[in-house]
Amino acid sequence: MATAPIEGLHHVTSVAGDPARNYRFFTEVLGLRLVKRTVNFDDVTTYHLYYGNEVGEPGTALTFFPFEDGRPGRVGAGQVQTTQFHVPEGSLDYWVERFDDHGVEYDAPEDRLDERVLAFRDPDGLEYELVASTQETTVEPWGEVVPEAYAIRGFYGVTLAVHEAEPTATLLETMGYERVAEESDRTRYEASGETAVVVDLVETDVGGRPGVGTVHHVAFRVADDDAEFAWQEALRDQGFDVTEQKDRQYFRSIYFRERNGILFEFATEVPGFDRDEPAEALGEELKLPPWLAEDRDRIEAELPPLELDTGAAQ
Ligand code: ZN
Repeated sequence: MATAPIEGLHHVTSVAGDPARNYRFFTEVLGLRLVKRTVNFDDVTTYHLYYGNEVGEPGTALTFFPFEDGRPGRVGAGQVQTTQFHVPEGSLDYWVERFDDHGVEYDAPEDRLDERVLAFRDPDGLEYELVASTQETTVEPWGEVVPEAYAIRGFYGVTLAVHEAEPTATLLETMGYERVAEESDRTRYEASGETAVVVDLVETDVGGRPGVGTVHHVAFRVADDDAEFAWQEALRDQGFDVTEQKDRQYFRSIYFRERNGILFEFATEVPGFDRDEPAEALGEELKLPPWLAEDRDRIEAELPPLELDTGAAQ
């Protein structure tokens, strides 16, 4: 079966500390919507929190496994170094003021590859950038907290930290990415889709270590199961150790480590986050997949408390 080119990112998943602090930062400061509150299906004592635009469409979903007393990791080779968000051109002054108001740690905006970039850290030290892009995106922002004129329009892309760029570059090209630009130590690749198309590679000697404050994996989007199985076969033919397909309820996924050790996921665009609660109520209830439903009481008792302010925008 022939593989269809990858059109861009699906989601990025990171390891956070305190879930309540994580929730407040991404909803109240960055103005994303909590689109799903569930548990890590592989470790049900931990939340899995999903933030995105109104429906968390593929290319907007930033997700976290928060461990209250987790060990800090170190950002380095074999990880996503930076997650980039797409914001409208001219919006960075607004964001600098907002970051000042909320005590967010950030660097002065700078020019890179013909774009203005504002780098900042979340409360766990994870690194992000707002990229004020001249490029169009089809993503509608969640305009309930940050005014629409400035609000985040999903991902712009990710920066991958690698020991050696070549093997990762080769894989990206196999996936349909094209090398489009280079500046200092950064090489940019772009997918053919319309949203979340950028992958930047930077080489580093610093070795990454998993833990709180690091990205766990990056997911690329595929249309459906057929597209995913075609990729599963093609990647196995190239020698990658690809998992069986896993049912993540809101998408279905395969995983493998690329040659620099970064955990890649391919996730289907279907069925989406409104499969088990209405679009207007996304994130309000703790959702569990059918195979965990009968353990709900035990699971809820083991999770840390997390108070949500799902109604009131501010
Ligand atoms: Zn994932």
